[in-house]
Amino acid sequence: MIGIIGGGQLGRMLALAGYPLGLTFRILDPKPNAPASYLADHVAGSYDDHDALSRFARDLTIITYEFENIPIESVRLLAQTCPVYPPPDALATAQDRLLEKQFFQKLGIPTSTFAPINHRADLDTALARFGLPAVLKTRRMGYDGKGQITLRTPGDIPHAWERLGQHPLILESLVPFERELSVLAVRGHDRTTRFYPLIENTHRDGILHRSQAPAPHLSPDLQQEAETYAHRVLDALNYVGVLAIELFQFGTTLLANEMAPRVHNSGHWTIEGAETSQFANHLRAITGLPLGSTAPLGTAEMLNIIGTLPDPAEVLSRPDAHLHLYGKPPRPGRKLGHITYCTRSTSTP
Ligand code: AMP
Repeated sequence: MIGIIGGGQLGRMLALAGYPLGLTFRILDPKPNAPASYLADHVAGSYDDHDALSRFARDLTIITYEFENIPIESVRLLAQTCPVYPPPDALATAQDRLLEKQFFQKLGIPTSTFAPINHRADLDTALARFGLPAVLKTRRMGYDGKGQITLRTPGDIPHAWERLGQHPLILESLVPFERELSVLAVRGHDRTTRFYPLIENTHRDGILHRSQAPAPHLSPDLQQEAETYAHRVLDALNYVGVLAIELFQFGTTLLANEMAPRVHNSGHWTIEGAETSQFANHLRAITGLPLGSTAPLGTAEMLNIIGTLPDPAEVLSRPDAHLHLYGKPPRPGRKLGHITYCTRSTSTP
C-alpha cells in the first residue's frame, strides 16, 4: 500500500491513476471529507500527531506527498521507517522561498533579484538596492498568491509591513515577464528522466486559471533551457518522482520562480492530453516501474473551476471537454475541479 500525505485533489487523482496498476492507497489528512478519502484508506489526523503518523505508516511500502505545508519533522520521522519520495530534502527546500531561491542560485538557475527580510531595516536596505516595484512574500506557507504583497509605490510599504512584518520574509524584484511557464519532469529510481513539453500558465487573483500545453510558440531552445535547469535540480536532490518548476519567460530568458516537489496543477492536462499522465508517471517513478512516454497527443487547454460549480451538462456539451470534479463544497477562491479540452494531432498512417 502507498501512503499519500495530504488527501486533496492531487491525492485523489494519484489514486485514480494507481488503481489500474493494482496499487492501493492510504491518505493522511485531517479533513474528514478530503477529496481522496472516497478512494483510499483514510487516517484523519493532523500532520504532527505522532499517533496518527504511526497509524498512517503501518505496513506502507512507500510514502509520497501531494501537499507541501506539512511539518518537515513529520516527514523525516516517517522516512526513518518507510522510503519517502520525492526525497524529504526536496520538500524542505520548496517549503522555504528563501532556501529555494538560494538553491536555484547555487545551481546557476536564474531567478528574480531577492533578499531575506527579517527586520524593517532589511526591507529599506533591499529596496534601496533593487527598488520598486517588488514583491514582499512570507518565506513559508504561501500558496496560490497568499502571503504576498506587491509594492508599487513607497506608500504601499507601511501597509505591507503591517500585514506581513511578523513573519520571516523575502523581497523579490517584480519580474516584467512576458508569460509564465512550467516545466514538468519525472525521474525514476534508475535516473531515467522524462520531460513534458513546457506549459503556459495564466493566473487570476494569484490562482492558476488556465494552462495550455504545449505552450504556444514553444521553441526547442526554450524547452532545452528549462530541461537543463530541471536536470540540475533533479541531480542535486537525488530526485525520484514528478517535479514541477514554475518559470517566468522574459525574452529568451527563463527565471525560476518556485518548484513543487509533487504532481502539479499545471500538469492536469496530461490525464487526457499526454501518452502517460503525470499521476501515472509519478507512481511508476516511486514504485520503480518503467516511466511512460511524456509525449503530448495533440494540444490541450486546462481551465480550473474555482469558487462555483458549473453545470456539468453544459461543460460536456463540447465533445472535446473532459470534466473533473473533486467533490469539494463550493467556496470563493477554492479549486473545485478542472476542465481539459483536447485537440488530437492527426497521426500519419
Ligand atoms: P508564487 O506564490 O510565488 O507562485 O506567486 C504567485 C504569482 O504571483 C506568480 O505566478 C506570478 O504571477 C506572481 N509573482 C510572484 N512573484 C513574482 C515576481 N517576483 N515577479 C513577478 N510576478 C510574480
